[in-house]
Amino acid sequence: MSFNLATMLRESARSRPEHACCRIGDRTISYAELDELSGRVAANLRATGLVRGDKVAVQLPNVPEFLLAYFGILKAGLVMVPLNPLLKAAEITHQLLDSEARLLITFDACAPEARKAAAGIEDLALCLVTVTAGARAEAGGRDTERESAFESLCTAVPDADARDIVATDADDTAVIIYTSGTTGRPKGAELTHFQLFMNCTTAGAVFGVRADDVSLAVLPFFHVYGLSSVINVGIRYGGTLSLVPRFDIALVVEAMQDHGVSVFVGVPTMFHALLQADTAGRDLSRLRVACSGGAAMPEALMSAFEQRFGVAVLEGYGLSETASTATMNPSPEDRRLLSIGRPIWGVEARIVDGEGRELPPGAGHIGEILLRGHNVMKGYYRNPEATAEAVRDGWLHTGDLAHQDEDGFLFVVDRLKDLIIRGGYNVYPREVEEVLYTHPAVAEAAVIGRPDERLGEEVVGVVSLRDGATATAEEIVDFCRDRLAGYKYPREVRILPELPKNATGKLLKRELRLG
Ligand code: AMP
Repeated sequence: MSFNLATMLRESARSRPEHACCRIGDRTISYAELDELSGRVAANLRATGLVRGDKVAVQLPNVPEFLLAYFGILKAGLVMVPLNPLLKAAEITHQLLDSEARLLITFDACAPEARKAAAGIEDLALCLVTVTAGARAEAGGRDTERESAFESLCTAVPDADARDIVATDADDTAVIIYTSGTTGRPKGAELTHFQLFMNCTTAGAVFGVRADDVSLAVLPFFHVYGLSSVINVGIRYGGTLSLVPRFDIALVVEAMQDHGVSVFVGVPTMFHALLQADTAGRDLSRLRVACSGGAAMPEALMSAFEQRFGVAVLEGYGLSETASTATMNPSPEDRRLLSIGRPIWGVEARIVDGEGRELPPGAGHIGEILLRGHNVMKGYYRNPEATAEAVRDGWLHTGDLAHQDEDGFLFVVDRLKDLIIRGGYNVYPREVEEVLYTHPAVAEAAVIGRPDERLGEEVVGVVSLRDGATATAEEIVDFCRDRLAGYKYPREVRILPELPKNATGKLLKRELRLG
């Protein structure tokens, strides 16, 4: 079946051409403009000799050029490989070589690392977007043989060429996403036109996003959550994206007020930051939908957010390998606290024990979540061994541990590798973190295992404190001892100014373990 994901932009542009597709600061781009400009990018990309299936890497923050590049690449029948702007040269080289990218679209702030990365790769072209003021001088010194300016991809082309959308197959790969890297060497999850379309269609219907909504677009676009659950959902339903290039809470609050943000899709650390932010005198009253995912949402944070903003938070769950959303709480009336919800339309979930036996729902049995459905990736690009390991008989092995209630709601307890085994007892860090989060002085919490001669592992809590709050490690240990079984409570609590996070805002437990 022939289908190109970019047709959803064309459809929204056809029905509401003048409607704002995205806003950044004072700048607004309409649907008609995004459709026209990305059509030019597509035609100009093809004119450089790139052909259907070629890979183009995009390393940009959340700026309009990301959207132009993304839809241009799709319309040209090419495959987008989004890269994290924080990557260092060696990491960029790995992802470029692994994905066989032919072109890297990056921006001035990343140019030094990108050039180092590109130096060792033959036949790779570079295209630079100017984002930072005053960077033109630096870009002026570029190697013109190999580098071009992004403006050259936006130059006018004949109308018919700008309207062209290359006919791709529905199961052609549209995007290759390198998974966050908390799970070893990044691998490229291949997601198809159909998978991405179905996922934003079904997840967006659960979020309840409409054409008159303005969605905060602060989740990084290079990550599946930002790409699928923010860009694709927003464009699919014809709404407006309020772009915030980096997570700076003052910028977020400003954009929320100035653009009238009504949909907030984020990770728990973003909810936490918004809750702590100074919003005095700001009008954030248009907010009506809040979705959390990417990491476990602590109950205390969820209820504080709901009280403060008067909006019910819907928690969902997904992975790069599932085109973003796999499960979701269906609605404020039909949800379970601490649950990631039920599989969305077109997705099935099973909980299995270590031997692969299915565990019945309703009895609290904890096992690994397996997922099957429209959104399970085609595989890891050029890595059949890793693909065979992850997807068996069509079931994706998530590495996440959960139990299921009798109504099919899933409760993530932890990731397999985060599991702490203390003296033969399983300790699920999530449970201990929930308790730490209820301590009035604690802002962020993570629980890790420390090797211990006697017990195998000892439970260690690592926390940061709220602004102005004081507490000693001993007090926090005592607090947990009062609330948790003897084998579970952390014997040691470390207090840090801030916990290490990746660009999406997820806590990096591995770094805590090393540190
Ligand atoms: P990524 O591939 O970077 O999107 O990471 C996917 C992982 O994030 C999953 O395997 C889970 O471990 C974690 N995750 C996503 N959503 C949730 C959630 N709502 N609760 C707990 N963990 C989550």
